[in-house]
Parts: sequence; C-alpha cells; structure tokens
Amino acid sequence: MIHFVGAGPGAPDLLTLRGAELLKNADCVIYAGSLVNPALLAMTKENCRILNSASMTLEQVLSAFREEEQAGGSTVRLHTGDPSVYGAIREQIDALEEEGIPYDVTPGVSSFSGAAAALSAEYTLPGVSQTVILTRMEGRTPVPEGEKLSELSKHGASMVLFLSAGMMKNVQEELLKGAYNSKTPAAIVYKATWPEEKVVRCTVGTLAESGRKAGITKTALLLVGDFLGEDYERSKLYDPGFTTGFRKGDK
Ligand code: SAH
Repeated sequence: MIHFVGAGPGAPDLLTLRGAELLKNADCVIYAGSLVNPALLAMTKENCRILNSASMTLEQVLSAFREEEQAGGSTVRLHTGDPSVYGAIREQIDALEEEGIPYDVTPGVSSFSGAAAALSAEYTLPGVSQTVILTRMEGRTPVPEGEKLSELSKHGASMVLFLSAGMMKNVQEELLKGAYNSKTPAAIVYKATWPEEKVVRCTVGTLAESGRKAGITKTALLLVGDFLGEDYERSKLYDPGFTTGFRKGDK
C-alpha cells in the first residue's frame, strides 16, 4: 500500500502520530528532497529503502511504487507540510487508481500554519479579514487568469505566498496593484519551525528590500495583510454579551 504522508513544516515533532507510525513501519520512503527534515528519515526501520524524489520524475516515482507493491511492502510518500498544498499528489493518485494500487493520505501541518505560529499570528482576525488566500507568484508554472496576484490582491485578505521568495520584487509590485498599500504589514518566514528559522517583519513597500537584506531567496513564505498589524475587533464567540449554543450571554 502507498501512504501519502504530510511531513509537517520541518520540526520533526510536528509530524502527526499517524504519520510517525506509518514511517516507522515503512519498507520504502520516497521523500520530497531538501524540504523534508532528515531527522524524520532516522525514524525508519533498518533496511528501509529511502529515495529522494528531488532527482526523480513522476514515472520513476510510479515505478518505485509498483516495485514495492509487487514485493508486498508498505511505501510512504513523504511530502513537505500538508500534501494537499503544492504537493503534486493528484497525478500520483490518479496513476495508482488506474493501476488498482491501494493508497491513503495522512495530512500534515502546512508551512503556512508553521509560519503563523512563528509570528504568533492569527490570519482570521475579526474586523480585519475572514479569508486566507494561499497562492503563489506566477513563475514557470502558469497561474489561471483570474488568479493573477494583482487580481487576488484586490480583496485585501490575509495572504500567504508559497514558492515566491525568489521573486519578491515582482510580488511587491503586483500586491501594490490591489488593495494593499506600501504600509500594509508583511512578513517573510524562512524555514518555519526549523532550527535555522528566520522571521523578518516588514511592509509591502519594503518586502523586496527586506528579503534582499536578509539574504532570503527560497524556502520561505511571504505573509501579507493587516492581520499582521495592530488593530482588530474582539471575537463574538468570547464576548460576555454573546449567546451561543453553549453559553448564555449577559445582554
Ligand atoms: N506542501 C507544502 C508546500 C510545498 S511547496 C506545505 O504545506 O507547506 C514548497 C514551498 O513551501 C516552498 O517554496 C516555501 O515557499 C514553502 N515552505 C515549505 N516549508 C516551509 C517552511 N518550513 N518555512 C517556510 N516556507 C516553507
């Protein structure tokens, strides 16, 4: 059986208990290159076959799946963060479906959660934003027309940019075409939850310059929005005057 497992953002103890159990029992682990902490691979049993998918094509990954399946083994396909976000799992799953190879998916802590934790931030602040946009700057992978960064920026929502740390100048320009302005708070979080984690707080206007000064060009998330600012409203849920299914308000 093939188990797609989210490795979490970096710190090994952010792997789920289910993911850890699958890793310990795996006969083969195919992990996603430098973004997966090698400490996780140390959890595998002796003689576990370990492959780094960074140097493999989809076809090679699929043929490793096939070989292990024929040998009756258990394979963990270890993806960084949560596999559902830029994990390229769908094409693997569709191939497994076609060949009748059983699989399942175990979620992981995404780096966008790891980055928020590094900043002690809440994306969904009342009175600020109730939406989180997870996206990327267009690069070699095209982005659908309606999802251009300048379009998404019109919402002024809390935004997290993956795979874009090498293009901060373009990101900054595109963000400024929307509802954000040069004073809108932003942050660059490099290797969230790893020992070498770096957090740079800045604004949309100083994003590229701040990234350049910190020497960050990859393995980072760009976070943008007023959720990183000072102002917000109290939640209704914990307001003494608010009645919920569990608590009667005093007003
Ligand atoms: N599935 C992953 C994302 C894979 S795409 C997840 O859920 O996090 C790879 C991109 O994710 C990187 O280019 C970087 O933008 C981001 N990333 C992954 N791990 C990170 C970390 N620990 N800190 C900051 N960014 C990270």
